[in-house]
Amino acid sequence: MGASEPTIDAVRRAARAWIESNWDPDDSLRAWRERFVDSGWAVPSWPERWYGRGLPAWADRLVAEELQRAGAVGLPVGGGTSLAAPTVRTHGSDELCELVLRPTLVGEVRWTQLFSEPGAGSDLAGLSTSAVRDGEDWIVNGQKVWNTSAHHADLAMLVARTDWDVPKHQGISYFVLPMRQAGVEARPIVQMNRHRSFNEVFLTDARIPSSHLVGQPGDGWRVARTTLMHERTFATLRRPALDRGAGRAVREAAQEADDHFTVYSWYPQRAGRADLLAPAARRAGRHEETTIRQVSVDALAFRSASEWTAARARAERARGRPPGPEGSLGKLAASELARRSARAHSRIAGARGLLTDGSDEDDAIVAEVLVSTPAQSIAGGTDEIQRNIIGENVLGLPREPAVDRDVAFRDVRRS
Ligand SMILES: Cc1cc2nc3c(=O)[nH]c(=O)nc-3n(C[C@H](O)[C@H](O)[C@H](O)COP(=O)(O)OP(=O)(O)OC[C@H]3O[C@@H](n4cnc5c(N)ncnc54)[C@H](O)[C@@H]3O)c2cc1C
Repeated sequence: MGASEPTIDAVRRAARAWIESNWDPDDSLRAWRERFVDSGWAVPSWPERWYGRGLPAWADRLVAEELQRAGAVGLPVGGGTSLAAPTVRTHGSDELCELVLRPTLVGEVRWTQLFSEPGAGSDLAGLSTSAVRDGEDWIVNGQKVWNTSAHHADLAMLVARTDWDVPKHQGISYFVLPMRQAGVEARPIVQMNRHRSFNEVFLTDARIPSSHLVGQPGDGWRVARTTLMHERTFATLRRPALDRGAGRAVREAAQEADDHFTVYSWYPQRAGRADLLAPAARRAGRHEETTIRQVSVDALAFRSASEWTAARARAERARGRPPGPEGSLGKLAASELARRSARAHSRIAGARGLLTDGSDEDDAIVAEVLVSTPAQSIAGGTDEIQRNIIGENVLGLPREPAVDRDVAFRDVRRS
């Protein structure tokens, strides 16, 4: 740490003092968040120009601890604060930062991510939604799919093709798309676990003001990689612990979290619910069976190992290093844990694991685990793609062969 950098203790004292004299649980949530964001304590590692204090990355975590200690509410949870805001701050123009950062941090706008398409998921750079410049606007046409929360979003992180005459990675641009307009239609998809978290999104002559371009035209792949790196690092969504009896701001934050997490209510089950293995084995009276003990311990030991990997990734970020390959390791570990937990749950539950009639809450949770864990190894990049990234970026193996990397996208054969 440089001589001029404040010490952890000094920052903790300053943050604590600010929270003690400013946190008023009887405020409205908006009033509190505006004061919090304007003070620079909401994102202390960001530059002062953009609602921060220019502190090292560890300051963000420290403020979160101090908020928790005081029972105070933090930033809204979700893709807006964890993906869109850091991407726009890193690559966006001052005008765009001015327009979207504060409303995102105070919780005024909700976001979705319009990346995947029916013909472009793992091969995201093969996307074919097009954006064409028309005076001061861009006009967008195409279809996106699997877009979580698109049905109630105000803004979207959108990648679209703006140049078809260059290789696929070079012709993509990244936009902030206003969702509430006639040219945008979001249709919810019913999943096999009966939830409706994500959507198909149809874009028909949707308009985007030119000021909403993030970075330069054709630079969208580089910008999208920033979003993806944050996504792989922040793969686990945690519901904030809020005591509803503690005042207006806390009640409103709990309501906000309820609204947000309705969409994500199955995400804990998607992660495999290793925490329920021992209670489930005891409930079934099978906790002393050797094979049940083995599959359960296998999942629980793997969970401990992957928590240590996640702790290493957090420590890297706290040292101010950007999210890197350890994000891919953590994501892969989360898929493996989900699979091992689901395997152990099915061994414990047997045929009862198929019961979903709601007559027994514990059975229903196990059933939801079994039909939700496959999503863990797809969302945010599949296991195979994570392995490719680890092979190339961590192990230094040769790049995957590709026939379309150096050809104008217009000439690439595609379905
Ligand atoms: C819960 C959930 C939430 C999601 N939310 C969003 C969202 O908000 N916004 C959004 O844009 N998208 C979202 N997605 C979509 C997700 O990003 C894609 O599903 C994912 O990238 C995979 O793409 P795909 O479904 O087209 O599969 P494909 O790319 O068609 O892959 C099919 C299979 O082929 C394998 N494969 C493909 N290429 C390779 C290769 N090069 N090497 C080895 N194997 C390969 C894959 O691993 C997979 O097994 C979400 C998905 C899920 C499950």
